[in-house]
Amino acid sequence: MGVPAELRLLIEKRDRKKCSYCLTSEDNCGLRMHIDHILPESAGGKSTVDNLCLACFSCNVNKGANQTYLDPLTKTIVPLFHPVRQKWKEHFGWDESKINIIGLTSCGRATVLLLKLNNTTIVNARRRWVSAGWHPPD
Ligand SMILES: [Zn+2]
Repeated sequence: MGVPAELRLLIEKRDRKKCSYCLTSEDNCGLRMHIDHILPESAGGKSTVDNLCLACFSCNVNKGANQTYLDPLTKTIVPLFHPVRQKWKEHFGWDESKINIIGLTSCGRATVLLLKLNNTTIVNARRRWVSAGWHPPD
């Protein structure tokens, strides 16, 4: 909370006004992205460029103060995706319809599950965005 305006501008520019987890864009959803502390403030995470990213309301709320979650395939607890240190495309992809996000790694699968990256609301929106040619983002 309470990230200075100049810092927010830097994060918005770097993250191109998209959620760092589900890649939903402000322009598609019409809602301003939240600022996520990648390492939660409750765990000592600071408000620095390396520890902040844009996140949609849904991803931000579902992530909460968690740092790890269950990989449903290997049944192990693994760290969540770190949008600054890791590359989205190495951990996630789109299915053939381009509507559902697939976790490609332990970290990706755990993040898909905890953050509910394919919840019904976003899936219904993505279906419209795909038919309009607005999705997926580059
Ligand atoms: Zn999101």
